[in-house]
Amino acid sequence: MIRKCNEDGYFRGHECPECGDSGRYVLDDEREERLGRFISGALRHFPYDIGLEMDTQGWVDLDLLCDIMENRYRWATEERLIALIESDVKRRYEAEGSRIRARYGHSVNVDLDYPENELTYLYYGVSLEEVDMLLENGITPLRQRYVHLSTSYRKAHEAASVHTENPVVIEVDAESAQQDGLFFMNVNDDIVLTDEVPPEYLSIVAAKE
Ligand SMILES: [Zn+2]
Repeated sequence: MIRKCNEDGYFRGHECPECGDSGRYVLDDEREERLGRFISGALRHFPYDIGLEMDTQGWVDLDLLCDIMENRYRWATEERLIALIESDVKRRYEAEGSRIRARYGHSVNVDLDYPENELTYLYYGVSLEEVDMLLENGITPLRQRYVHLSTSYRKAHEAASVHTENPVVIEVDAESAQQDGLFFMNVNDDIVLTDEVPPEYLSIVAAKE
């Protein structure tokens, strides 16, 4: 559930993680999930099918998105949409003035423009069955526009655990890859996007924190 603390803003759960206040009700679990699925579809996968226009960097008009959303869900409001994205610990979306976009996870074709930072190692979790093929061929995006790499072993393991029981984590030598001209975009503290990673930068890594 999403609630709002007067001091600290929107949060998930029953208590503000900053001050412990119970805040005021904004959205229940079921609607949070439905709205989350709608927004993911709209901003990552099929903006055009529902009547949105998206620029090359993934931005769509916030008012138009709200009109479409409110037509579909009577209970949906702009405040609830903003609450959903601001309380999201994964920081999937961002709103800026009159526009909104997904920060990552696109299957629709976009050309994102995040800054590049200096990197050392990045991580990518895969299943035991996939690992040999990736080490040999490199990592390319499957259903998504970009390859999504994690900034820590733990996050990569966590992400892969959704799809497989025994994840193996591949380490990406991002520093060398950057020196060789590969471009990496820092989306948030956890995720870095890139077009593809050739096999020479990949190795299997033993479990670590
Ligand atoms: Zn608070």
